[in-house]
Amino acid sequence: MSDLTLELAKQLIALPSITPQDAGCQELIGARLRRLNFSIERFDYQGVSNLWARYGSEGPLLVFAGHTDVVPAGPEQAWTFPPFEPTEHAGFLWGRGAADMKGSLAAMLTAVEAFLTVPEPKQGSIAFLITSAEEGPGELGTPIVLEQLAARNETISWCIIGEPTSQHVVGDMIKVGRRGSLTGKLSIIGKQGHVAYPHLADNPIHLACPALYELSKIVWDKGNAHFQPTSLQMVNIAAGTGASNVIPGELTLQFNLRYSPMLTAEKIQQTIHHLLDRHGLTYRMEWHHSGMPFYCPPADLVQACQQAIAAVVGIRPELSTSGGTSDGRFIAATGCQLLELGLCNDTIHQIDEKIKISDLTSLHQIYLAILKRLLC
Ligand SMILES: [Zn+2]
Repeated sequence: MSDLTLELAKQLIALPSITPQDAGCQELIGARLRRLNFSIERFDYQGVSNLWARYGSEGPLLVFAGHTDVVPAGPEQAWTFPPFEPTEHAGFLWGRGAADMKGSLAAMLTAVEAFLTVPEPKQGSIAFLITSAEEGPGELGTPIVLEQLAARNETISWCIIGEPTSQHVVGDMIKVGRRGSLTGKLSIIGKQGHVAYPHLADNPIHLACPALYELSKIVWDKGNAHFQPTSLQMVNIAAGTGASNVIPGELTLQFNLRYSPMLTAEKIQQTIHHLLDRHGLTYRMEWHHSGMPFYCPPADLVQACQQAIAAVVGIRPELSTSGGTSDGRFIAATGCQLLELGLCNDTIHQIDEKIKISDLTSLHQIYLAILKRLLC
């Protein structure tokens, strides 16, 4: 089986699917699934390719989710081997997308192939939710498929996303949640004037300083057993006309919060508006809420995953909620159990992205062991 996984990973890497292009990856995956009697649907949308493939009609439904798109390769001459010519060298498979996440897609697909060809009694259904937009315009990908599923009451019981979550060896870390992400764009309004006549102006930098200092000092929460503390980081600040004799009329600030499920976006917004109002500021605020936090409690999905990893690689995975947002934020919102488990992430988005070939074999076996635990 491992050779089949390696071959498929190489076929996928050879297709230069720079986000949001799919470059034929879903065609290839769909053809393999059709042979297993999956029903295939495409929900392509505004240049993004989205695939939903399902085997069986009964519950519970286990979904493998992932993306075929990759980030750009960067300067090709900097690569040891051309990024879209998958190369086996020194025990590694090299190529853009090897870890993030064409290797995982290959391992999922060959695991399902192996699972369905074994003549054992099985329960439930299996599906694949694949998009070409995860690295780019994410909202045109996974949410488009989820809308279709919601419209026909098709509910997901468990979801495994193949994002590269491992650190040193496959299975040493899985993600059982992610923090939420909220961005604020604040404009503090003053009055422009000559620096020599400050009584005729209102300096928005001076107005902002005490409030922004206070904002930077807020302790939002202390985190909990599963989540790091919520953090607000200011990422940009600007004011000034470029002249040394002009008091600017406006200051703009951008900040982002990564927040735990102990808070809500509404609560954070209220706190910040209250602080700005207390400082008597005149301001405009724009909010962008790009991801709700989620957490998957250690029920049957996490347990099946822990047992599978222990059986295949003999380690106990760390259950983490660290890192940036993922498409898990959309899928977890449907109420299913969801976790992320994939290859090592130490070279993702880098020049010379690569994975250990032995990790690819292990991941195939881990996914297969999860299928057996949940659906047999
Ligand atoms: Zn990814």
